[in-house]
Amino acid sequence: MVKRTADDWWELLQAVPDPEIPVLNVVEMGIVREVLQEPKRLLVRITPTYMGCPAMDAIADDIRERLAEPASEEGLTTEVELVYAPAWTTDWLTEAAQAKLEAYGIAPPGKTSDKRALNGEAPAVRCPKCQSTETELVSLFGSTACKAHYRCTACAEPFDHFKCI
Ligand SMILES: [Zn+2]
Repeated sequence: MVKRTADDWWELLQAVPDPEIPVLNVVEMGIVREVLQEPKRLLVRITPTYMGCPAMDAIADDIRERLAEPASEEGLTTEVELVYAPAWTTDWLTEAAQAKLEAYGIAPPGKTSDKRALNGEAPAVRCPKCQSTETELVSLFGSTACKAHYRCTACAEPFDHFKCI
């Protein structure tokens, strides 16, 4: 027995990338809600980002795969459970995660409480390349369902915007 603690499990989880946004791990995404170490099993609770996001199965598999061996060294089985309440929102992305997204070329979602959004206007999306807010929506669906496709009218750069929910 190696006697791993909760901190160790969280650290291992930080090595599991989000399959759709590989620069972020599942902890930074705010997907992992809870890690419970019980006498016989390790239970990881995760919350799906977007309803029906096909990546969730892959994420659950990746987490199980990552933890299975260290967990079995502790005599534990690994289980991943989906929890749907409270629902995930883009507000759960950490500040660091938002900065990483922008550096990767994806406009971060901003906060869902954005005043413009409350007024029913499309929120201003900042170009991740030149920081201009002179951008236009090209398609509601970018490379994945979680992203919208935008183009910057200032520098002509096409980019994905991680949608606010
Ligand atoms: Zn630009």
